[in-house]
Amino acid sequence: MERSQRRLASDELLAAIVSGDAPVFHPNTGQEIAEGVEITLSPSARAGLEAPRFCQLCGRRMVVQIRPDGWEARCSRHGEVDSAYLGQR
Ligand SMILES: [Zn+2]
Repeated sequence: MERSQRRLASDELLAAIVSGDAPVFHPNTGQEIAEGVEITLSPSARAGLEAPRFCQLCGRRMVVQIRPDGWEARCSRHGEVDSAYLGQR
């Protein structure tokens, strides 16, 4: 996978996750989260051990790469998240 110096245009997704914004779309199932509905994440997903499959801002399926030490996920619109940024290992 190409890993260039080019910065992605957006880090909105990372910013949303780091700041703990409530997801609009479920990161594991991609379903839209209606207002007032509590999302239930599996324990491993809640701990950040499970890579998100869908962008929580737009519901797009993300490009996910699993590494031995974590994961990275990229939404074409909202940028890239790396588990390393989230303080997980
Ligand atoms: Zn997105």
